[in-house]
Amino acid sequence: MRRTRILILGGGFGGVYTAMALERTLRRDAEVEISLVSRDNYLVFQPMLPEVISGSIGILDTIAPNTDLYTRTVESIDLNNRIVSTSSGFRPRPYQLEYDHLVIALGNITSFSGQPGLEEHALTFKYLGDALVLRNHIIHALEEADIEKDPQLRRALLTFVVAGSGFSGVEAVAELNDFVRTVARSFRNIPIADIRVVLAAGARVLPELPKDLGDFAQRLLARRGVEIRLNTRLAGATASTSSSMARSRS
Ligand SMILES: Cc1cc2nc3c(=O)[nH]c(=O)nc-3n(C[C@H](O)[C@H](O)[C@H](O)COP(=O)(O)OP(=O)(O)OC[C@H]3O[C@@H](n4cnc5c(N)ncnc54)[C@H](O)[C@@H]3O)c2cc1C
Repeated sequence: MRRTRILILGGGFGGVYTAMALERTLRRDAEVEISLVSRDNYLVFQPMLPEVISGSIGILDTIAPNTDLYTRTVESIDLNNRIVSTSSGFRPRPYQLEYDHLVIALGNITSFSGQPGLEEHALTFKYLGDALVLRNHIIHALEEADIEKDPQLRRALLTFVVAGSGFSGVEAVAELNDFVRTVARSFRNIPIADIRVVLAAGARVLPELPKDLGDFAQRLLARRGVEIRLNTRLAGATASTSSSMARSRS
């Protein structure tokens, strides 16, 4: 008799913990087959990603290997025929997986709608690769600033804008700020006073937390040199500028 196939798409917390829970629940049921498909063969512990920017933890400390999976990009889902098509890998055709039950845990994507230029010029911060790109970008900006003779351009190279004052934004800006200010001291021609790290924030910092904790974080960031712009929404960006607008209080 054909086994019942449960197919899970996505190797983040959602997909992996669903797989683990189903494995536990159904481990004695030989009639059920559980498979997981994900783009990467590892699970990223995203809460520790900001530390990858500053290098205070190594990249291997943020991931756990996902085994027993199809390392593939999901390309389409045929709900009528219950077939998932994935990238082809080394094969000449897309790889197809049939299922009886489907779990879709592919996460979300960053929306740039209504914010012209951000998709082209801003760096996103969600995956492990993003943290590495951001770290390398900061180092490159410092190297460029070190050899830049034009003071205005040098200040621009040393200006970093982080949008979002929730957990991810605050952790990212804190790590970025510490990293930039520490590493800049190793360069000969970077005036620390030229460094600007700006946080485009909502009505307050860390709105998820009680107000006194948010205020504490805000004071600490300010003391460490982060310029906090409350009620400021990033509205767009070009290669050299970011634009913001007052956030409505509704
Ligand atoms: C910097 C940062 C810090 C965070 N800190 C916290 C925290 O402290 N506490 C907290 O509770 N939450 C935190 N979060 C949020 C938390 O990480 C997310 O809510 C959670 O990871 C969502 O899990 P998910 O499985 O739904 O999606 P994801 O983690 O996005 O997983 C989706 C998976 O699907 C894969 N995938 C996507 N598309 C395809 C495709 N087409 N084909 C194949 N695979 C695909 C992706 O590669 C990924 O493996 C943080 C997030 C970030 C970015």
